[in-house]
Amino acid sequence: METNGINGFRGRLITADHAGYDTARALWNGAVDRRPRLIARCGGTADVVAAVRCARHHGLEIAVRGGGHNVAGTAVCDDGIVIDLSAMRAVWVDPARRTARVQGGALWGDVDHETQAHALATTGGIVGHTGVAGLTLGGGIGFLMRKHGLAVDNLLAAEVVTPEGSILQASADEHPDLFWALRGGGGNFGVVTTFRFALHPLGPTVMAGPVFWAADDTTDVLRFYRDFAAEAPDELGTVVRLGTIPPLPVIPEELHWRPAIAVACCYAGPVEDGERAVRALRRFGTPLVDLLAPKAYSAFQGGLDDTVLHGWHYYWKSTDLTGLSDEAIAVIADHAYRAVSRRSYAAMFHMGGAVARVPHDATAYAGRDVAHNIVIDAVWLPEESDEHAAAETAWARRFLQALQPHRAGSVYVNFLDSDDDTGRVREAYGDHIYRRLAEVKAKYDPDNAFHHNKNIRPG
Ligand SMILES: Cc1cc2nc3c(=O)[nH]c(=O)nc-3n(C[C@H](O)[C@H](O)[C@H](O)COP(=O)(O)OP(=O)(O)OC[C@H]3O[C@@H](n4cnc5c(N)ncnc54)[C@H](O)[C@@H]3O)c2cc1C
Repeated sequence: METNGINGFRGRLITADHAGYDTARALWNGAVDRRPRLIARCGGTADVVAAVRCARHHGLEIAVRGGGHNVAGTAVCDDGIVIDLSAMRAVWVDPARRTARVQGGALWGDVDHETQAHALATTGGIVGHTGVAGLTLGGGIGFLMRKHGLAVDNLLAAEVVTPEGSILQASADEHPDLFWALRGGGGNFGVVTTFRFALHPLGPTVMAGPVFWAADDTTDVLRFYRDFAAEAPDELGTVVRLGTIPPLPVIPEELHWRPAIAVACCYAGPVEDGERAVRALRRFGTPLVDLLAPKAYSAFQGGLDDTVLHGWHYYWKSTDLTGLSDEAIAVIADHAYRAVSRRSYAAMFHMGGAVARVPHDATAYAGRDVAHNIVIDAVWLPEESDEHAAAETAWARRFLQALQPHRAGSVYVNFLDSDDDTGRVREAYGDHIYRRLAEVKAKYDPDNAFHHNKNIRPG
């Protein structure tokens, strides 16, 4: 094919002979090293249409890039074309209707920044540089979900470029089958160029932040947390982090890199109510440091950004948990701190609340009845040896293996890695939702043109 031009394309085309090629193909996960033939950096929907048509005409392998954050690195392919939306990051807020239109390459930091200017917010991820598109299309979990639902529960409509290069609107009223599938089924059905989300009043000041305890206290903290979380109001979102204390400027230097368990909180309501809701947690045991305080929601949402930098190497293992029994807690406490790298960690999201109140098959997100999940994140630096990388990935695998008796039989699709997780897509959806997704796939992408993803086969 011609790589010096795509009919009707006004964005930027980047090939291996361009100076910016290596930067343009790099993903958040520096362990992923793929060399596409062409990167089509789109300026808008019309460019996406042109790029999709060109790819189909030439029979090219297609990868779609939103925020480029997925650990499996599916946003870039070898040899084919990357339909790159990273230049499409606009966010338009309609404060009267409490909605936001968000372009398909935006990051959650972009959304929080614009919506918080109106003291509004919607459920997004817990790291500001994660892409809106991939996160939303997989379901979208975050601190606000127990009060306001998943990202997909706040999705009102999407503009989609189909594998034929047509533009469709998907919502409850238009192409409702496609709209259902987009809410959890990932990038299988087309390229989403714009999302429209419902917004909710929030902050801008919220009661939020982590409390850290020494790793030796993990069993006690988790047993306390199990009951605390079970009683928590919907407004209180919590994420447990087990690893070392990241070397952030807000944390006293003598605590940096010390093995610790943290419970990070965000209260989606008045600060005084939030103070009350977290009081027992802060009083539990002897915290090493307590950073829970009233703060700007958007600053809180960006607080973890420097702990998971672009270009480091990552490998993940994840599962939904049956619960936090004493036995499950024992496994977690035993394995969480055995990583070689001080950057590796595990995170557990507390689900429930509004997430669990949406009927199971109302969207394609399957894990609504699960109270806790865990994602084990092995992290190492590009300059570290292959042996180091092997030890780190082995830690994550062993940890998951040890959790076997406590696995709920489901997993969040956005936490799946590549290779040894490829066969787990069905586990993410369960048979019923997977079958329905396969039917929608057969209608909207019968040739499986969009397969460089957590693939649903047309059925
Ligand atoms: C540090 C970190 C923190 C995270 N925290 C959370 C969290 O709090 N909550 C949560 O739910 N998840 C979280 N995740 C997981 C996250 O949801 C996934 O990594 C997600 O895929 C990121 O979206 P992206 O747009 O950056 O992905 P990309 O890597 O750009 O894309 C991944 C896949 O999504 C599809 N895709 C991307 N853009 C589009 C588009 N515009 N149209 C159609 N398909 C598209 C494609 O199939 C692509 O292969 C986190 C990930 C990381 C790395």
